[in-house]
Amino acid sequence: MGTAIYSGSFDPITLGHLNIIKRARIVFPRIIVCVTVNAGKSPLFTLDERIAQVALVTSKFPNVEVAVCDNLIAEFARINKANVIIRGLRALSDYEREFSMALVNKKLNPDLETFFLAADEKYMYHSSSGVKELARFGADLTGWCPREIIEPLTSRMEQITLGGKAQ
Ligand code: ADP
Repeated sequence: MGTAIYSGSFDPITLGHLNIIKRARIVFPRIIVCVTVNAGKSPLFTLDERIAQVALVTSKFPNVEVAVCDNLIAEFARINKANVIIRGLRALSDYEREFSMALVNKKLNPDLETFFLAADEKYMYHSSSGVKELARFGADLTGWCPREIIEPLTSRMEQITLGGKAQ
């Protein structure tokens, strides 16, 4: 098994995402965590901020790299000689979207396999949007996102509440 890609907007990276990365890195010799530009969403953190955050929380894992992707993942995989896409599966609601995405990627790049990891039961109901909602109401973010992300998330939310503009 060679290089595997784990992609997402990571706006911000949560403990659920980090759990998938930690487990995948035991199985695959090289993981590229791919931060997607995702033109359809208006992110809380800029692309550069999200890349820096993912790099910070994965810095202790020697076989994990961070990259940016403004291309189709299937194309990104071809360029980077990756043959596996990792996806995390939470509730049944993830299944339909993930299944069709796997089929589309297979069609675009027949050498690419999608591997699904079942979400850890602790993180089954964790999502970036949920974490942002908790932050917006000033909840304690311990146990939701990596500790390095708590301060930037809290202060970005404070900026917004005070009328500052997020990028
Ligand atoms: P995007 O914003 O690009 O849709 P997501 O954060 O929704 O990114 O998802 C990126 C990947 O991480 C998907 O495979 C998703 O199922 C997985 N994922 C997200 N949250 C969790 C979690 N709590 N546990 C396991 N996998 C997760």
